Amino acid sequence: MTNSSGKTLRFALVAHDARKDELVEWVGDQHARISRATVFSTGTTGSRIKAAYPDLDVTCLKSGPLGGDQQIGAMICEDELDALIFFVDPLSPMPHDVDVKALTRLATVYDLSMACSRSTADLIVKGLLGDQAG
Ligand code: PGA
Repeated sequence: MTNSSGKTLRFALVAHDARKDELVEWVGDQHARISRATVFSTGTTGSRIKAAYPDLDVTCLKSGPLGGDQQIGAMICEDELDALIFFVDPLSPMPHDVDVKALTRLATVYDLSMACSRSTADLIVKGLLGDQAG
């Protein structure tokens, strides 16, 4: 699947620790669609996805707290992403809380599709990668 510029759709997938299992499970649910995209992910999240689905094309960035979220922010600015799925932990304070705010702000500035919940993530992948799972 390609975007309006003819490039393969590029997704960034991130999850805080408390929601990594949920993201890996979600990727499994959406595997047929996600396999048609290029995936970028913060270090630990990406390692988990690759371990669960070695066939997926996943590029791991730095771990989120060490700058991975900011690398994703730079990709948004450079028009290198088509969507951001970020399963945020809403119940725990984190040292890099500000990075979530920064990503939300940049996604808004650049009108990037962004989901923090499973239901919205489903809508985004169906909208961008097609309603047919196969
Ligand atoms: P991680 O980063 O995938 O390296 O754990 C996610 C985050 O931003 O906390």
